[in-house]
Amino acid sequence: MHHLHKKIFKNDFVNSFEGDESGDLSPRQTPGVLYSKAIPTPVPKPKLIAWSEELARELNIAKPNEEDLKILGGNKVTTSMHPYAACYAGHQFGNWAGQLGDGRAITLGEWETQKGSWEFQLKGAGPTAYSRRADGRAVLRSSVREYLMSEGMHHLGVPTTRALSLVTTGEDILRDMFYNGNPAYEPGAVVLRVSPSLIRFGNFEILAARKEVDNLRKLVNWTIDNFFPHITGEDRIIEWYTEIIERTAALMVEWQRVGFVHGVMNTDNMSILGKTIDYGPYSFLDDYDPNFTPNTTDLPGRRYAFGNQPSVAYWNLGKLASALLPLFEDSKELEGALRTYEDSFWNKYYEMMSNKLGLDEVTEEDKHLLANFEKVLSTTKPDKTMFYRLLIDFPLEEVEDEKVLIYFGDIFYDETDASAKTGFVKLLQQYAQRVKANNISREESRAKMKKANPYFILRNYLLHQAIEELEKGQDTLFRKLEKAMKDPYSAKATEFFKKRPDWASKKAGCSMLSCSS
Ligand code: AMP
Ligand code: MG
Repeated sequence: MHHLHKKIFKNDFVNSFEGDESGDLSPRQTPGVLYSKAIPTPVPKPKLIAWSEELARELNIAKPNEEDLKILGGNKVTTSMHPYAACYAGHQFGNWAGQLGDGRAITLGEWETQKGSWEFQLKGAGPTAYSRRADGRAVLRSSVREYLMSEGMHHLGVPTTRALSLVTTGEDILRDMFYNGNPAYEPGAVVLRVSPSLIRFGNFEILAARKEVDNLRKLVNWTIDNFFPHITGEDRIIEWYTEIIERTAALMVEWQRVGFVHGVMNTDNMSILGKTIDYGPYSFLDDYDPNFTPNTTDLPGRRYAFGNQPSVAYWNLGKLASALLPLFEDSKELEGALRTYEDSFWNKYYEMMSNKLGLDEVTEEDKHLLANFEKVLSTTKPDKTMFYRLLIDFPLEEVEDEKVLIYFGDIFYDETDASAKTGFVKLLQQYAQRVKANNISREESRAKMKKANPYFILRNYLLHQAIEELEKGQDTLFRKLEKAMKDPYSAKATEFFKKRPDWASKKAGCSMLSCSS
């Protein structure tokens, strides 16, 4: 076990690329470099609120002592660390946004283990060259959400960046939470997030936009060497791009499986490793509504609504292809690779749905059944999580109309009209027939379903309540959620197996969120 303050960090990224080493934290454009040195700004009183034992064990890190805590709060940088903010750009809500960069994230260095190296990054540790007009800080509410959700997604089996610690800073920061001209002070916090790499599509986009082709080629090669070492040979760039397509498609399918809505799928929030990154105004679906977006800024177009995510990912992959274009003679290969997205997505989607529904395979005819599930669920809007969990034990022999409705009970959010109810019952009757025709036993089928359908999800209203409590100094609900998210497929957290209450659908922060964080 290593203590953070004693470990020798590696700094391969800064050693490999040009950076602005001035340490100047004033906002500016930084052409020609891939990062700018940024020392975290100290905080009055770092206090450890949460520590991920599982991740610490994986990385062989000792529980933090006083010296380590200083690092976690941004009050200490050891001699082997070379803290920096990365320079990247992005397309935000469909528009080119130019240089963005790590405005409130500072990478301390790389932590090497036998299984590979991990980028250690503080989020909320003060200004960097990329903070633009903002303060480089993060509020407790958004940090709790990032901490719990990144660890929660990991335990759900969804590719994600991780979070090692959550620290409050003892400093209040000013935020206009509802963007309505009523700013208020909120407690500040810092999360230490960890991933093999936090590079985004936007890191490549900025180099292409600035026509820094040598830097672009170098970053691509460095990324492949370090994180895709199995890709070798002459065509490695197109193979690598094709793998990013595969991974991104797989991630979209996983989000569909658990009902995750990211909320801000800008290209600067797309991980080059195909992981979920940058937890902001995200949400799980409560009621099955493909049109749901949790981000108040996204309401006008619902670009980032649940059901749109797979096509937005495709659009974002197109922007990555444009960024890589200077490395190719023409666009043919990249276009060809991009065309593989659709099949890749649908193949993975059908496989995922066969697990969710406990089917032995998905035939052409089954595809109609799956489409029907989509249609009926989005019109009747049951609680997605509860519906699929209840489906595991659905009694296949008791499919008379009334019995089906009694079995599922009160999982709907709205009054369902008679014809919708009929559609729901018919779907379940069709489903029962199909499961009976399986070439696997009912037990095998149920076992598949139990692994694909979580019992517990971190619903926004629960997070909201836990945050309100924490702000008052109580951590009861936070601890309960922290425990439940580590074991989401078991049926232990019974107190949370219920629909979002009525009051929560109207309250800010319980269903919809702003980007202010
Ligand atoms: P997001 O879409 O939330 O991932 O953030 C978009 C950009 O805004 C990124 O470049 C962030 O680093 C930056 N940003 C967000 N919040 C802050 C903040 N409080 N201080 C400085 N930069 C920020
Ligand atoms: Mg971001």
